[in-house]
Amino acid sequence: MKIKEQCIHEYGFVRLIDIMGSDEDIADAARVSYGKGTRTASDNRNLIRYLVRHKHTSPLEMVEVKFHLKLPIFIMRQLVRHRTASLNEYSGRYSIMSDDFYEPSDDYIKPQSQTNKQGRDGELSEVWKQSYKQKIHQTITKAKVAYKFLIGNESTSGGLSRELARTVLPVSNYTECYWKIDLHNFFHFCRLRMDSHAQQEIQDYAKVMFEMVKPEVPITTEAFEDYSLNSKSLSRMENDVLQYALKCFPDIKQFIKQLKDSEDIQFDMTSREWKELEEKIDK
Ligand SMILES: Cc1cc2nc3c(=O)[nH]c(=O)nc-3n(C[C@H](O)[C@H](O)[C@H](O)COP(=O)(O)OP(=O)(O)OC[C@H]3O[C@@H](n4cnc5c(N)ncnc54)[C@H](O)[C@@H]3O)c2cc1C
Repeated sequence: MKIKEQCIHEYGFVRLIDIMGSDEDIADAARVSYGKGTRTASDNRNLIRYLVRHKHTSPLEMVEVKFHLKLPIFIMRQLVRHRTASLNEYSGRYSIMSDDFYEPSDDYIKPQSQTNKQGRDGELSEVWKQSYKQKIHQTITKAKVAYKFLIGNESTSGGLSRELARTVLPVSNYTECYWKIDLHNFFHFCRLRMDSHAQQEIQDYAKVMFEMVKPEVPITTEAFEDYSLNSKSLSRMENDVLQYALKCFPDIKQFIKQLKDSEDIQFDMTSREWKELEEKIDK
């Protein structure tokens, strides 16, 4: 596979280094449990869509994706929370830390959200925006100067150990890692980190990573988008509300069932999926 690479923000990048396995490998693995059939492309598609729809996810673990990432430390801290990945990170004890630091661009500088304690929302006046930008830049510059002083050079005493010198660096400093994960857990990561509730900067990484993987496993990714990423689940109470409404308005239930045969509008669902929908609304 040819390595794919895309730059993110001013200094970051995502490289898809390797991918082990394909849609076909997922279908083949599943057939061990479902028995052999004919192996046409459409059979693979139906099988994979069935697996993803019914959350039979272990065949998706047969595919693995490996990335080389350059990212700010505060994004790295979010990435390491995804425990099913294997990773190796740049060593600030062994090597001199990167001279690159993340500084948000104008359109990313927003005030604290009043409704979401973990997010940003709204707009700042130009004066405040520039003032915050300047403070971030000045603080980073001071930290860079301090780090350079601490690690020393040939004309000084040899410098403080790198493992201690780095303690003055902010979390905007860039690090690098190799990060490998199976496809099932990669999708889980994408669902959480491409979501609008995730920090904007990790969304930017997750979206690029997802788009790079998509053409390598197109059938499985499409199934993930259809049955997981863009789907919704209902709680017991929400389902009770829905069932109550359907009971009060039985015409709606009938109308949904008739849509299956509609010539005006297509929903791209197999007859099996229509049957499953009917079972759901009849419950
Ligand atoms: C919007 C958002 C906000 C967040 N805010 C915070 C925050 O404020 N503070 C904070 O600490 N974290 C926060 N997180 C991180 C979050 O709590 C999870 O740690 C992170 O999203 C990884 O999810 P995960 O554990 O499901 O994934 P993974 O670690 O990749 O695990 C995948 C799945 O494997 C299973 N698994 C993995 N390891 C174990 C284990 N040891 N035991 C049992 N099952 C396991 C679980 O089923 C898990 O869902 C946030 C995440 C998001 C997306």
